[in-house]
Amino acid sequence: MITSKTTLNLLKTHFGYSSFRPQQESIINDILSGKDVMTIMPTGGGKSICFQLPALALSGTTIVISPLIALMKDQVDSLLANGISASYYNSSQESYIQNETLKNLQAGELKLLYVAPESLQNLIPHFESIKISLIAVDEAHCISSWGHDFRPAYTKLGHLKKQFPNTSIAAFTATADSATQQDIVTQLNIPEAEVHLSSFDRKNLYLEVRPGNNRIDQILKYLDSRPDESGIIYCLSRKSTEKLASKLNSTGFKAKAYHAGLSADERSSIQEDFINDRTPIIAATIAFGMGIDKSNVRWVIHYNMPKNIEGYYQEIGRGGRDGLPADNLLFYSYADVVMLRKFAKGSSNEEYQIAKLERMQQFAEALSCRRIALLNYFGEHFTENCGNCDICTSPPNYFDGTILTKKVCSAVTRLEEQEATGMVIDVLRGAQNAQVLEKGYQNIKTYGTVKDTSWVDLQQYVIQMINQGILEIRFHENGRLVLTPLAKKVLFKDKKVQLAILPKLEDKIEEKVITSKAPSNLFQKLRELRLVIAKEEKVPAYIIFSDASLKDME
Ligand code: ADP
Ligand code: MG
Repeated sequence: MITSKTTLNLLKTHFGYSSFRPQQESIINDILSGKDVMTIMPTGGGKSICFQLPALALSGTTIVISPLIALMKDQVDSLLANGISASYYNSSQESYIQNETLKNLQAGELKLLYVAPESLQNLIPHFESIKISLIAVDEAHCISSWGHDFRPAYTKLGHLKKQFPNTSIAAFTATADSATQQDIVTQLNIPEAEVHLSSFDRKNLYLEVRPGNNRIDQILKYLDSRPDESGIIYCLSRKSTEKLASKLNSTGFKAKAYHAGLSADERSSIQEDFINDRTPIIAATIAFGMGIDKSNVRWVIHYNMPKNIEGYYQEIGRGGRDGLPADNLLFYSYADVVMLRKFAKGSSNEEYQIAKLERMQQFAEALSCRRIALLNYFGEHFTENCGNCDICTSPPNYFDGTILTKKVCSAVTRLEEQEATGMVIDVLRGAQNAQVLEKGYQNIKTYGTVKDTSWVDLQQYVIQMINQGILEIRFHENGRLVLTPLAKKVLFKDKKVQLAILPKLEDKIEEKVITSKAPSNLFQKLRELRLVIAKEEKVPAYIIFSDASLKDME
């Protein structure tokens, strides 16, 4: 019988830590009681201990599936340094070393064996004669064919549960939106897995989004009130990092550009200077940040919009590691969206990337608490306004949107959570198009219950419901909309919903025309184009143009 005293003892004696971090103990207890486990914990949260400690407590060998050879080696080295017998097996090793490992495995001498997914099939016959205590799948998001880190060999892991039905499988990841979490559980065949979701909330980070016109001037002003503070400006292109760094230097700030085009030596010296406060400001591409552990980064600016919310979260997460307040500013411009769409074009998972990009755009356009939108994206059902974002500090005007929200939620229910936003809107508006009629949706009860709201407005309201964590998009499954626990509270427990009053589209356009310096006939043409798009194509009808974005678009 393994008691909590035993696990704490193991933590102290083998790893040298005096207490568990949040979640670690309950994850370990679930594994020790034989359950399958799915853990989503931010990077640096302490996932390794969650399978290394059970490996010590249980009899037999724990198999750890790990995607990176360098990562395996690091972990095995530190286990060995702690006196724990561990080894790794992958295709880069010489065969005499592999044989040595197999011999130790057969002799029952290994508490942990790290394996690359590609090498697993070769090893399985060797597992039959030994006792496997646990199978841990690290970086489990690699199993999802939609993710950017997809590894085909991970998809073979689905067989493990069948081959070893009595062995716990424990999956770990730091980057999984709630749709990917579902996908991991399904693909590993562990439907009963206990899900442990650590909080992704970083309360000390202030979240702000601004329109991207005159970005450089805005940045200079922003930094004027933050002299000597350390910060990072993320840009999409190498050229922008250089341009920004030189602009900052010429206005009296100390900044350097960082991107993958620099030599390894240059890059490491820039990192050093940043970490040691010799260069307080870095203008960088997303190449900057991995493995940089600097506690006093006081602000992070996104000069361009990141391509998805995962990236945004990762990058803002580099601020305020010391727990003190840090500010995040994201510039949002239509030109960035155009550029990011171009990047996504032609990739094997283009549709998925575009869906993720649109979700990022919806976050940027949010009309309710940004932290609620962010955390719900990661499957964390956070519902209290945070008070530490631009929307909370200056909210728009809201109306009681409970009835509208109930109508949308019941349409989603009637459609059995199988349809994407577009179809849900069509059904609510009583559309007569072929897709609706072929599926017989004109006969369902919610058909045509929101006739008096325009397609585009209704779409904006649905986006608000997604941002508020009432609805969720399943990206891997044709973007179908599903209800969250909060939606059920709205439907059945009289939970009230505040929706923001939408700015009138025409007002918005007029305003831009008046403030712009570009020739008015150009705006007239864009305006007509916008109306065509809005009415015919049913896509968001906001064309947000500014002087800067037009310059970028040229
Ligand atoms: P993850 O895999 O979640 O990114 P790691 O397992 O690599 O994180 O752990 C991150 C760091 O936290 C490591 O340096 C690890 O030794 C440390 N750590 C883990 N658990 C504890 C704990 N209970 N107390 C103190 N430090 C811990
Ligand atoms: Mg890890």
